[in-house]
Amino acid sequence: MTLLTPSQSLNELPLTAIPGIKEQTEKKVNKLNIYKPLDLLFHLPHSYHDKTRLTPIGNIKEDSYVLVSGIITKTNVSYARKKILTTYIEDNTGKLNLKWFRFYPNQVKTLKEGLRLIAFGKVNYNKNQIQMSHPEYRVHPAEYTPKLESHLTPIYPKCDGLPQTVLQKSITWLLNKINKGDFDIFDPLNEILPKELKTDLTSYKLIDALNNIHQPSPELTIANTLSPQSLSRQRLVLEELTAYQLILNQSHAKNKQQSAPKFNLNLSPKSAQQKFIDSLPFSLTADQYKALEEINTDLQQASAMNRLVQGDVGAGKTVIALAASITAMANNYQAVIMAPTELLATQHLESALSLIGEKEYKIFLLTGRLTKKQKTSILEDIKNNPKSLIIGTHALFQENVIFPSLGLIIIDEQHRFGVHQRWQLKQKQSTEGCHQLLMTATPIPRTLTMSWYGHMAISIIKQLPPGRKPITSSCINIERLDDVVNNIKNRLNEKEQVYWICPLIETSEKLPLTAATARYEYLSEQLQGYKIGLVHGQMKPNNKEEVMSSYKNGDIDLLVATTVIEVGVNVPNATVMVIEHAERLGLSQLHQIRGRIGRSSLESYCLMLYQGPLSKTAKQRLKTIRNSQDGFEIAEEDLKLRGGGEILGTEQTGESPFRLVDMSNDHRLLIEAKKLADFIEKHPDISEILINRWLKNRVNYQGT
Ligand code: ADP
Ligand code: MG
Repeated sequence: MTLLTPSQSLNELPLTAIPGIKEQTEKKVNKLNIYKPLDLLFHLPHSYHDKTRLTPIGNIKEDSYVLVSGIITKTNVSYARKKILTTYIEDNTGKLNLKWFRFYPNQVKTLKEGLRLIAFGKVNYNKNQIQMSHPEYRVHPAEYTPKLESHLTPIYPKCDGLPQTVLQKSITWLLNKINKGDFDIFDPLNEILPKELKTDLTSYKLIDALNNIHQPSPELTIANTLSPQSLSRQRLVLEELTAYQLILNQSHAKNKQQSAPKFNLNLSPKSAQQKFIDSLPFSLTADQYKALEEINTDLQQASAMNRLVQGDVGAGKTVIALAASITAMANNYQAVIMAPTELLATQHLESALSLIGEKEYKIFLLTGRLTKKQKTSILEDIKNNPKSLIIGTHALFQENVIFPSLGLIIIDEQHRFGVHQRWQLKQKQSTEGCHQLLMTATPIPRTLTMSWYGHMAISIIKQLPPGRKPITSSCINIERLDDVVNNIKNRLNEKEQVYWICPLIETSEKLPLTAATARYEYLSEQLQGYKIGLVHGQMKPNNKEEVMSSYKNGDIDLLVATTVIEVGVNVPNATVMVIEHAERLGLSQLHQIRGRIGRSSLESYCLMLYQGPLSKTAKQRLKTIRNSQDGFEIAEEDLKLRGGGEILGTEQTGESPFRLVDMSNDHRLLIEAKKLADFIEKHPDISEILINRWLKNRVNYQGT
């Protein structure tokens, strides 16, 4: 072991100097993105085990983790299909079985009758017997008094092949050293903030927060420690959010310096874009005009546009994207429109072909589903047509796609993509750079606009195209299913179409399929003479698309679907949306799904079927949706109820970039973090320390 001197700074200390971390262990620790002792300290537990007290066996609750102490009454090995080792223990309140389905022969010998066994694990009931499988345990003489932990035991995330104890011990060792004054840990909020920016939270010492997170003080329970109100947690969250704001501020500054081709909008005799707008079968709404004007102003600059169009569902963002693409093409550049699903990309292609046509411009579709031969040919086309529009999915940013002159990137439903994916596409820009337009139908609440999206220009399309009638929304108990079926017959008889959504159920992958299939069978039975279709996420893309297009063409009257149809599908003749288990869906999702109807001048109805009893928040959600059709209002409410995961693009891609932040509560700290970041960025060295501390090796945010 290396000898340490107090003056040695924490970061000069090699990981292997920490007791318990040898070279082999170091490699495993490195896999968790931990390279220095400091990284270790910021590897934060996501939960805790409570070994600070014994639970009498008689008081054990099902599915809880408990520490128990009892005398072994019997140990045996039974043979079912496999060998099972069972040890029976009891204390003066009850009896408990401990089971091992894998064990060593000499383990049986150590579990002797009459000894005291101390075990920690999760308990469950099996045939009315309470049992614990594969517990952590120790055996002692009967008279032994168990030693209890003085504080909760932290459980660290992602530990493949690395025992929790390694992290627990090494972090404890480090904290002890710091607490003794052997090392210092830099506390930016405490040390550099001026008085005006001091709050209770920023004055709370970083080391106190770290001590409390890794080794909660003895009086704290798990609930207290994990509570969003815990000061220690909030203090760390504030720092993490500040680090993110710093990165966003930096990328904002970088973006401002990024160049892009300066587009000419007045190509004579009449601008290409104007010609396109004049050719549309409708006139643009005032909001659409305004958004387009804002985009046009950006496109005429030599610096890169970085604009987000927020338009409520059905507000007509696609035409805006197409109009901007025309400008790029008229200036001899390529434009790309990237959509999150095949279906949406195909729909955009159809819109582009019908509204732009192929007379003057080439339009290509690139998705993951093309055959190898088709793909090779499209890739050639993209390479050889510097004046073209390319529509596609994730396939667009694959390595082998070469854009000779990419001047405009448009990303539809941007929250469906991770930051890294957008960044990958951006790498394909032309030598002069590239403009970027993001679109979202999930309006963004004001706090997030000011902080998270503070680095972007924003256009808002609130107004819906004329002639649309408001949707009548109602909440109906599933017990009234028969009434619902009878009512939709009336709509079907008018040759209108119906969506019937059976949502995904998070805990089970198979259930939604049966739910949708069962409903499909039930409705086919009840609605004989009408054509019923079924579409769900597990279908082959080809089949899915086939069903969707039959529905679009009116060959299917009623479509039973899982939430796959959530984003962007456009079937104006559909007037009824039935949403089953509406109580399980989030606000934004309900709003998105409902947005599939109300796309023509026909009266539309959204019927939210729920199964009682409803929780308080479920009630609140359904009430909000029933009473409001304003996506912006709904988004504010959503943030309050659930957090901004969906908006921040972390939920869909599953790549939550945070260590500790949970937006449903922590968005409250965003504005404060923004303020801190705006101050700290004036001290580049400190800003660097914070970014490294929280974000190093996590996500590549450059140039987004
Ligand atoms: P979203 O903003 O949800 O992506 P779309 O771009 O798919 O909406 O537009 C929804 C429908 O509205 C499309 O059929 C589109 O052609 C139509 N549309 C768009 N703008 C107008 C307009 N100004 N007037 C009438 N219809 C419009
Ligand atoms: Mg759209």
